[in-house]
Amino acid sequence: MSLDKRRGFAITQHDLSPRELERYARQMGPAVMSHEGQLRLKRSSALVTRVGGMGGPAALCLAMAGVGRVVIAHGGEMILPDLNRQVLGSEAVIGKPRAPHFAETLRAMNHHVEVIAIDHEPDRDEAREWAAEVDIILACPPTFAERMLLNEAAVSAGKPLIDAAQWGMMGSLIVVDPKRTACLKCIYPNEPEFEEFFPVVGAISSAIGSFAALEAIKILSGTGHSTAGRMLMFDGHDNQTRMVDLQRDEKCPVCGGVDRPAKESKSLH
Ligand SMILES: [Zn+2]
Repeated sequence: MSLDKRRGFAITQHDLSPRELERYARQMGPAVMSHEGQLRLKRSSALVTRVGGMGGPAALCLAMAGVGRVVIAHGGEMILPDLNRQVLGSEAVIGKPRAPHFAETLRAMNHHVEVIAIDHEPDRDEAREWAAEVDIILACPPTFAERMLLNEAAVSAGKPLIDAAQWGMMGSLIVVDPKRTACLKCIYPNEPEFEEFFPVVGAISSAIGSFAALEAIKILSGTGHSTAGRMLMFDGHDNQTRMVDLQRDEKCPVCGGVDRPAKESKSLH
């Protein structure tokens, strides 16, 4: 243990090194994150699945911000049509598995962050195991089935879930606080039909992915206020943003059995 005389506190291996303090200097201060908030980020972990158009920028923002452990899950190989939005990829990766390359991109961005790559989308059991392991889940898959599976895992583990979705020029974001707010199943009781090759614009993917990362950073660091319980809707045609209040379904098969906390209990801020 050494003493950082400049700031007057003891540095342990779990604290921030001088190099990290320098690295994060632009996001630490009265208008943004406190030292304690930055330290909380370092001690936090996040699962991001998948890490394509939305999850890629989200994972990148988390790694750049200094979230200590970022777990990414994405199966399959890179194909040419991915390159209009999947920022962690490149032309050199076409035909190769995405996850290991995406992980290397994140490691190259910030070596202070531990990056774990899963080369497939977690099934129900794996999702539950990872939900128990990490502090927050960012669900960025294209299918409702995967989003619902991650929703169930998050509610079961009592961990916050950030659900990012997009279609064409539009995107949406939902933050689920399992102890307090509606879950995805409350909002979408019936799964819509899945469209395999739906339209996506990379700038929308990145915008929604960045919003997802921002919510995660706020929750993990204790900065600002989470949008839990509301849905952010963004329409890129005219850059309109709307916030919609979400109602919890007391009879929801996923979160209906989760006890509401007493009014004075702490929830996501
Ligand atoms: Zn629910």
